[in-house]
Amino acid sequence: MTRLSRGEVKALGDAIDRDPALREAWAARAVAAGAEVGEDMPGKRIVRLALARADEAQVRTNPIARDEAFTCTHCRRDVPVGGRRPRDHCPWCLHSVHVDVVPGDRAAGCGGLLVPVAVVTVDGRFDLVYRCARCGAERRNRVLDDLAVPDDAGAVRRVAAG
Ligand SMILES: [Zn+2]
Ligand SMILES: [Zn+2]
Repeated sequence: MTRLSRGEVKALGDAIDRDPALREAWAARAVAAGAEVGEDMPGKRIVRLALARADEAQVRTNPIARDEAFTCTHCRRDVPVGGRRPRDHCPWCLHSVHVDVVPGDRAAGCGGLLVPVAVVTVDGRFDLVYRCARCGAERRNRVLDDLAVPDDAGAVRRVAAG
């Protein structure tokens, strides 16, 4: 199922309660899904309403290999496609953007900056751990060290060192 965890719904709800523009965007999604949104409805309830119908309609759990060039939101450099693997974060500053619920689906509706906060080892490979600066969600992206434009090793070390 395409789902946010309870903690993610709460974090996103809190962000909606603080950010009128984000509230408006999610209220529009909830209304599009057939819900009625009240003026003083808590943000997390709006998220649940918006996702309830989407969960029924699009049951997607597999990552989508979406490999697109982009301009980094954080350092403004132009990032080329990955090639062998989808390039889902900037190779130089390592930042990303919270756009996916599962990789490639562009269903998150947040758009916050994903800030790299740690590096962890998973089955012998390295993952960057991200925290969304807008909604607080935690995400992971694989360190891409085997592409034509690989992740900057020094930048990865600096994140790992905290
Ligand atoms: Zn960057
Ligand atoms: Zn977010």
